[in-house]
Amino acid sequence: MKNFSYADIIAATKGFSLGQLIGKGSHGSVYKGKLKDGKLVAVKKPLEGVRSLGDHDPKLSNEIDILSSIKNSSVVNLIGVCHGPANKFLIMEFMPNGSLHDLLHLHPEPPPWPRRTVMAIQIARAVLSLHEAKPPIIHRDIKSANILLDRNWNARLADFGLAVSDDSLQPPVSTVPAGTIGYMDPCYTESGQLGPKSDVFSFGVVLLELMSSRKVMDMDSDPSSIVAWAVPMIRARRVVEVCDRRVALPDGMLRPIDRMLSIAVRCVSENVERRPLMGEVVRELERVVEGLWWPIWGPIRRGITDRVHRCVRAWRRCVKKRVTTTKIACKDHLIDGGNHDCSDDGVSPRRKA
Ligand code: ATP
Repeated sequence: MKNFSYADIIAATKGFSLGQLIGKGSHGSVYKGKLKDGKLVAVKKPLEGVRSLGDHDPKLSNEIDILSSIKNSSVVNLIGVCHGPANKFLIMEFMPNGSLHDLLHLHPEPPPWPRRTVMAIQIARAVLSLHEAKPPIIHRDIKSANILLDRNWNARLADFGLAVSDDSLQPPVSTVPAGTIGYMDPCYTESGQLGPKSDVFSFGVVLLELMSSRKVMDMDSDPSSIVAWAVPMIRARRVVEVCDRRVALPDGMLRPIDRMLSIAVRCVSENVERRPLMGEVVRELERVVEGLWWPIWGPIRRGITDRVHRCVRAWRRCVKKRVTTTKIACKDHLIDGGNHDCSDDGVSPRRKA
């Protein structure tokens, strides 16, 4: 991990100018930066005005610790850190194509089915790489806004501020719940029992969102939760009604999508025992794709390639907007049987820039 000088980061972000601002999260802002060698980076700056963040900001320190212990192409990797006069900054790989959330909900041209299928496997592999790390890592905040798209439109998992890493995580341990409403495992929020299957639940929600493009919490609909909306329809084999209707289903796609949605249903099961582990999810998704790619990529390969190119061109024209979500944040990331110093606002509505 590289140590950057404050002067380098000021130069890279043009003094943290507004023009370089990518967006704001509940814990700070992210700026686009260009290093001296021309490499583009994302600079994470903690919230201004919070008492003595510096080296003592637990979320930032936690993110540095976790990201230093993993490096792979399925996550947004840490390049280095910068010790500023009052704050510490994270220097991350820059993801130029925004988040999966924006792609699904704000983009004028929704992603085609083959792209969604590939993304589902990429996200599942990213989560598996965390669960298989030594010690295992639980992300705790898997959601479409934390899945960023690299220059080749590969889905990569980001934002490890709430992640926990501990050998004691298997079996589940007691901790104060943190995450984002709509994606959080109800078994975890109710009992505080955190384990790898808490991430499996959140992954299942993302999979439902990826296939349907429906908001995870839609207050204008009944039921508002995507899980309560989708699961009965999938069980009743009304799969077409769950799928994003903006994109036509090519011949032969319905069965693979049905299988993927069935995996999602198992992931969001209220009974933790019935949920698969991420290894099983990856294997099942890969099996779905193995049966899918040859019929798809063979005869109509050219048509799909052209279509993906058209989508990519359209995606680049997309003007990013931000949305409101609800976050439960936790300042402490130690697993100590529940003696946690959690933010006193508990559930705090947050507006991204
Ligand atoms: P929260 O942390 O509250 O869950 P968030 O995940 O949206 O919210 P951040 O992770 O701080 O918040 O990200 C703020 C914005 O910066 C988001 O729009 C996110 O897509 C973008 N962003 C974060 N990391 C990168 C990156 N490495 N490259 C490009 N954009 C990024």
